[in-house]
Amino acid sequence: MDTLDPQTPSYTLPPEVVAYRDLARQIVRNELMPLEPEYLASPHHTYGLTPVTNLRSVFPAETVDRLVKLSRDTGLWWMGASGTDGGMGLSMLAQIVLDEEFNYCAVPFPAPEIPNILSEGTEAQRKKYLAPTINGDMIVSFAQTEPGAGSDPGGMMTTRAIRKNGRWVINGTKMWISGAHESDVILLQAVTDNEKRQRGGITMFLVDRKAPGVTIEERGIPTWLGPRAGQYIVHFDNVVVDGDCVLGPVGEGFRLGQRWLTIHDRLMRGPYSLGKMQRALDMSIAWAKQRVTFGKPIAERQAIQWRLVDMYVDLQALRSMTYEMASRADQGEDVRAEAALVKMCASEWGTRCIDHAIQIHGAMGESLELPLTYFYRLLRHTQIGGGTTEIQKILIARKLLKD
Ligand SMILES: Cc1cc2nc3c(=O)[nH]c(=O)nc-3n(C[C@H](O)[C@H](O)[C@H](O)COP(=O)(O)OP(=O)(O)OC[C@H]3O[C@@H](n4cnc5c(N)ncnc54)[C@H](O)[C@@H]3O)c2cc1C
Repeated sequence: MDTLDPQTPSYTLPPEVVAYRDLARQIVRNELMPLEPEYLASPHHTYGLTPVTNLRSVFPAETVDRLVKLSRDTGLWWMGASGTDGGMGLSMLAQIVLDEEFNYCAVPFPAPEIPNILSEGTEAQRKKYLAPTINGDMIVSFAQTEPGAGSDPGGMMTTRAIRKNGRWVINGTKMWISGAHESDVILLQAVTDNEKRQRGGITMFLVDRKAPGVTIEERGIPTWLGPRAGQYIVHFDNVVVDGDCVLGPVGEGFRLGQRWLTIHDRLMRGPYSLGKMQRALDMSIAWAKQRVTFGKPIAERQAIQWRLVDMYVDLQALRSMTYEMASRADQGEDVRAEAALVKMCASEWGTRCIDHAIQIHGAMGESLELPLTYFYRLLRHTQIGGGTTEIQKILIARKLLKD
């Protein structure tokens, strides 16, 4: 099986989405896959940087410039932006289909990371923050987690913003902030009403990373996700921002954060896993057919066949689920609990699928020349980052019991 064979049910996809999917497959095959060995061997890539900065830290400028040009020339650069914001205006389903293709390879395809909640800003904010983010001239990081507030940010957040003469004074510390060191602006959640907290007492601020009082601990937090740290501790020490740095209504910052997480960290975890799972399955089938032990290819052993089947079942089930939830989101349905379901299954099933692939490959499965351990680390991380598996279960249970 190969990713260039039609895996996805084309009949459910509009023709223009199929055309984009095929284009993405070609780009992955012709442009990204040849770069993968160098990417995997590099001591410079990391988790948390945007695709462009990640590529620039590994490859020479001409390689990255070529990929950026390709992305812009094909229009794929704008795949994450809405039509009203000057983007491709793709449906959620179309974005998911494209994202799955690009996740087949470890090398990221250059396109901007666009926090969808920026489109809830005022006209002036959209001009100042959203337009340059889409164009690739501005990078935005998201700061919710704190040393004592992870799974329960609403209840445990201590970062405060106090209004003084029409301006806000912010104090507190955020932790685990991906890409904070390279971002221009930090989307920051702070408590503005200690009584109300997540029910109207948390506000979202757009804070200039270089504003006086903002300090990013230089070393970052080393993790197993990449050779270099991508997460940072950020201190806010009497940082003063104007009223026009509030995104959305005062007190509505928790809801905005949840909106951002629902799409970026939950629904989009579906394709993030799917591409890697499909690659792992393709690799495992090819390997099992050619690896011979005791006089036969290991593909002829039932123990190996069952691992392949388990991988295939997870992949097909996750794909169906992800496509369905994306279609429902496109129809305007509130899919917060469904996105939690996709995230939970994508991270849990994705991890076990790659684990099967590593086992089928034997020692080669542990080689850093193959993308398997890299994929494993990334997918294992998704059981924690953006809300743990346990928290997704809480969200799903809440919906079940409420209904
Ligand atoms: C690589 C990386 C990148 C990240 N990037 C960002 C970022 O850009 N911005 C940002 O704001 N944050 C970021 N985070 C933080 C991440 O979202 C949190 O780590 C995550 O939400 C979990 O919080 P915690 O680590 O404090 O775990 P804790 O809340 O301390 O939980 C510990 C364990 O207890 C479980 N648990 C907690 N409560 C319950 C309960 N009620 N019932 C059952 N089990 C429970 C959890 O599931 C977990 O297994 C990042 C983290 C990592 C590792």
